[in-house]
Amino acid sequence: MSAYSKETSMQKPGFGKQMNENPASVQNHGADAGSIRPMERQTFSNEKLHLALKHFFGYDEFRLTQLPIIESLLKGEDTLAIMPTGAGKSICYQLPAVLLPGIAIVVSPLIALMKDQVDALTANGIHAAFLNSSQSQDEQQRVVREAQNGTIKLLYIAPERIPANSETFFAFLKKLNPSMFAIDEAHCISSWGHDFRPEYLKLAVLKKHFPDIPVIALTASADKVTQKDIVDRLELKEPRIFISSFNRPNIHYYIHPKRNVFAHILDYIKKHKEDSGIIYALSRASTEDIAGRLHEAGIKAAYYHAGMDTNERSRVQEAFQRDEYRVIVATIAFGMGIDKSNVRFVIHHDVSKNVEGYYQETGRAGRDGLRSDAILYYSYGDIVKLKKFAEIEGNPQQTAISMKKLQLMQDYCEHEGCRRQFLMQYFGEQFPAYCGSCDYCLSSLEEKDATVDAQKLLSAISRTGERYGAGYIIDFLRGSASEKIQPLHKELKTYGIGKELKKEQWQWMVQQLLYHHFLDKTDDQYATLRLNEKSWKLLKGETQLKLILKKEKEQTDEDADDLGYDMGLLRELKSLRQDMADREHVPSYNIVSDNTLIELAMYLPHSYDELKQVSGFGDYKVSRYGTNFLKVITTYAREHHLVSKIQMKKTKREKKEKSEPKGKPAVNSTMKVTLDMFNDGMNVGEIAVRRSLAPTTIETHLSAYVASGELDIYRLISKEKLEKIIATIKMTGQMAALKPIKDLLDDEYTYGEIRMAMAYFKK
Ligand code: ADP
Ligand code: ZN
Repeated sequence: MSAYSKETSMQKPGFGKQMNENPASVQNHGADAGSIRPMERQTFSNEKLHLALKHFFGYDEFRLTQLPIIESLLKGEDTLAIMPTGAGKSICYQLPAVLLPGIAIVVSPLIALMKDQVDALTANGIHAAFLNSSQSQDEQQRVVREAQNGTIKLLYIAPERIPANSETFFAFLKKLNPSMFAIDEAHCISSWGHDFRPEYLKLAVLKKHFPDIPVIALTASADKVTQKDIVDRLELKEPRIFISSFNRPNIHYYIHPKRNVFAHILDYIKKHKEDSGIIYALSRASTEDIAGRLHEAGIKAAYYHAGMDTNERSRVQEAFQRDEYRVIVATIAFGMGIDKSNVRFVIHHDVSKNVEGYYQETGRAGRDGLRSDAILYYSYGDIVKLKKFAEIEGNPQQTAISMKKLQLMQDYCEHEGCRRQFLMQYFGEQFPAYCGSCDYCLSSLEEKDATVDAQKLLSAISRTGERYGAGYIIDFLRGSASEKIQPLHKELKTYGIGKELKKEQWQWMVQQLLYHHFLDKTDDQYATLRLNEKSWKLLKGETQLKLILKKEKEQTDEDADDLGYDMGLLRELKSLRQDMADREHVPSYNIVSDNTLIELAMYLPHSYDELKQVSGFGDYKVSRYGTNFLKVITTYAREHHLVSKIQMKKTKREKKEKSEPKGKPAVNSTMKVTLDMFNDGMNVGEIAVRRSLAPTTIETHLSAYVASGELDIYRLISKEKLEKIIATIKMTGQMAALKPIKDLLDDEYTYGEIRMAMAYFKK
């Protein structure tokens, strides 16, 4: 019998129990496992993989392309995974590593991150270790012994550990019975990339020594040349390539004009007193200055820049990871080695010198998938300053590139449109013109014909004899039952004709009419509203009134969730987590993530079984930390007369599953308008013009109906084309980004058609 089936057979009920009895049972029985060749690999059903994800990592759903990547590896195929930072690359190899017999060898360049990964795995009861230059000889010997005994599931190795004579090294690896090779930060093998590491070149012969062992290369680099380089240099065999969208939906983007910056930042930090974040500034001096002023204002802040010595820098970084500092003010030197998943905000005090850098820096926020903010303060003065830096003496070519990139950064800051769309297009992805979570979309302006409303207001003023102030007129319009309204007025036809608008909306309308001189106001103590010549023109319909309105923000599910947890309990849970972290000498998010704490404070689980339903609680964490968390929750609940709400989580999920089958996006009213127009016989272009929306937006609307089955795909695309596109989707395993598919098809295939086919395929 194989090691795998003995230890981790995933019969449904037994699966969790087994772990509780022996949390460390995921081990590698070298001798047994040796007999399993890749060809004999078992297949894992979708359901089994979901169970395993919950069991080992505590998560309920796979993100993005995690599932197909994992399936590809389990089938023994070479795989290239391209995912943005924070999307969850690690699970892609960690889950197969625990499921497959043998040991997974992970090559990773950053020593600090390696330790973090091993700590995180250990916290989930998975036996992992690393080999790098920070260890003593003895320690390294111990790890090697454990690896040879087959008790380790994942072994992280720094590339510089690979000796010049790689033959001995590969012979050593062979004895360990590797299940796969995971090459993290794989762009380091490419001299085109921004982070070339010559040590990585030694990996080029991996495939020669281990032709049957799958290799997974992982990177966040979106660059095509680099991707090709990775495949070529690692000699991946017919690799499956998965490219995820670079969109980070949980990050909200804001750009503010650079005025009173410090006061603005301080206000933000004070309003978000539970959160930690990074402030980027251009010069070392300003990092020190800002950090100093924050400190004076009572915020736990520190600065970080390349002028500090190494010890001091790592001290600051570690203190930030442990939440001892809430805010770090840094030059861009900060962040390379940082893997703090609960960074809630990234603020750019100064403009970045290019969009790539800016995006990478903002990407350090929200790696746990929770709502986070990226805020940039823009002034043209910063661009002028940066232009001086962009000038590289004696290198006109490089100067031109830097200038061009700076120009694009300026374009971004001054962009009149969705920030996210700009960013996505910058990285070669199509994206609709409305994201709903950037400053532009949240407050985008809309021209509205206000003639009818204005006429109602003006005629109310006229009918009541031009003797009242705004308050009375508005109450009259809204049909107030108040005794203040004269009985005679209650008989008038205009009484109550403005019920559909709120009081504030009418107040705003009065201001607008005054501002545009469609109305006069006396300037005595009891200011009364009076009509003028322009008012009469409007009333008679000889002229129209168009107003620019701020679109009202729609209440989203996410907002509703935000309100749903108990702040007091969250604070207690955070402090409990901090105590545990201090005791174990690990960063607090290693115990459980912020997301998990929020779920605890929201659903108040009262038993082990209930705890297991919370995202982030795998079986090991339940058995290790469950008692402590439950104690705090039940005590708090008793004191505050609260009961468990875990049932809500279930019903919420079940509801979601019932109402929207997987892959079907929610349909809203603006989409319905598009569908109606389409059914009326208009094509995408015509609808886009009529609705003043981008054609891609219209296509996105229609594809939602294709996905839900309400719209026949063949009304949008021929059968032949559909089949060709689907074959390409299958070939690339690509389910998120359109560009890679478009690149593989002829020019006659449009993005719109690919989008439709993808929606259809998902369905
Ligand atoms: P990357 O290497 O791509 O930058 P990580 O692998 O470090 O990202 O993952 C980022 C965070 O997301 C980690 O805290 C990880 O535990 C979490 N994560 C990964 N996959 C999932 C998932 N399916 N559900 C919830 N959280 C996840
Ligand atoms: Zn937007």
